[in-house]
Amino acid sequence: MNKDIATPIRTREILEKYGFSFKKSLGQNFLIDTNILDRIVDHAEVTKKTGVIEVGPGIGALTEQLAKRAKKVVAFEIDQRLLPILKDTLSPYDNVTVLHQDVLKADIQTVMAEQFQDCDEVMVVANLPYYVTTPIIMKLLEENLPLKGIVVMLQKEVADRMAAKPSSKEYGSLSIAVQFYTDPKTVMTVPKTVFIPQPNVDSAVIRLLLRSNPAVTVRNDVFFFQVVKASFAQRRKTLLNNLVNNLPNGKEKKSLIEKALQDSEIDGKRRGESLSIEEFAVLSDHLSKAFL
Ligand code: SAM
Repeated sequence: MNKDIATPIRTREILEKYGFSFKKSLGQNFLIDTNILDRIVDHAEVTKKTGVIEVGPGIGALTEQLAKRAKKVVAFEIDQRLLPILKDTLSPYDNVTVLHQDVLKADIQTVMAEQFQDCDEVMVVANLPYYVTTPIIMKLLEENLPLKGIVVMLQKEVADRMAAKPSSKEYGSLSIAVQFYTDPKTVMTVPKTVFIPQPNVDSAVIRLLLRSNPAVTVRNDVFFFQVVKASFAQRRKTLLNNLVNNLPNGKEKKSLIEKALQDSEIDGKRRGESLSIEEFAVLSDHLSKAFL
C-alpha cells in the first residue's frame, strides 16, 4: 500500500517521476501535510452521503483524503500535465472523476445534475489557486448552485475580507457579496510550511455555509450590488459623494439620492463601510425607485 500523496516524501517522488515543474501562473502550491487535510475534510463534514466538487486537484493530495470519506468526488483541473499524474495517483479510488476544465468556464450546474444524483448533499472543498480565489467563489455563489457549502483554503487576507463586519478595515463589497449568500467563518489559519512551493502570503480555511434565502430581500439583486460597489468606490469619501459619483447619471440625480438617503434614515455623511447589509438593502430599495 502506498503512503498518502500528501507526505513530503511521496509528493517529491511523484514530482520527480513525472518531471513536474510548478507553474506559478496557475497558483500551484501543493499541500504536504495530511493532518491539515484531515482537518479541512472534518470542517466540511464530508460523509459517505456527500458529493464533493474540488477545484484544482494538483497531484491529488486533497482529492485522496476526500475520496476516502465522500461518496463521490468530481475535480476540475486546468493543467493538462496533471491528468496522467492524477490517473496514476488516484488509481486506488473508484469514486473520483477528474475533468480537464477551467472551473471558471465550466457548466457546474450540469455537472452536478449528472454526477451527484445519488448524493444527499454537495460540498465544494478545495485548496484554491490564489490568483483566482474571488472569481471562483463568486461564480459558485452567483450561479445559485444547489450546494450545502464551500470549505476552501485561500489567502488569509481574502478570508478576513469575506468574513468582515461593518466598520472594520477589511469590510467591503466582497464581505457583503459573500455574506448575502452565506454565513462565513474562518475555521483555521495555516502556516506556509505545509505547502510546496511555499506561497508568499498567509493562508486560512474558510467555511461558507449557504443560506436557504439571501441574508436580505431586495427588489433587485443586481442593483443592490451596484449600490454596494458604488458606496465603497472611494473609501475616504462620504456615502453621498460615492453614490453621486459612481451610480449611473448620479450627478443629475443628486437630489433623488439625497431623498432616498433620507427615506432610508441613513446620514449621507457616513462612510459606506459603516453600513450593515440590512442598511444597504433598505437604501438600494429606496434608490431603485429613482434608478430603475
Ligand atoms: N489540491 C492540490 C493540493 O492541495 O495540493 C493543489 C492545489 S493548488 C493551490 C491549485 C490547483 O488549481 C493547481 O493544481 C492548478 O493547476 C489548478 N488550477 C488553477 N487554475 C484553475 C482553474 N481556473 N480551473 C481549474 N483548476 C485550476
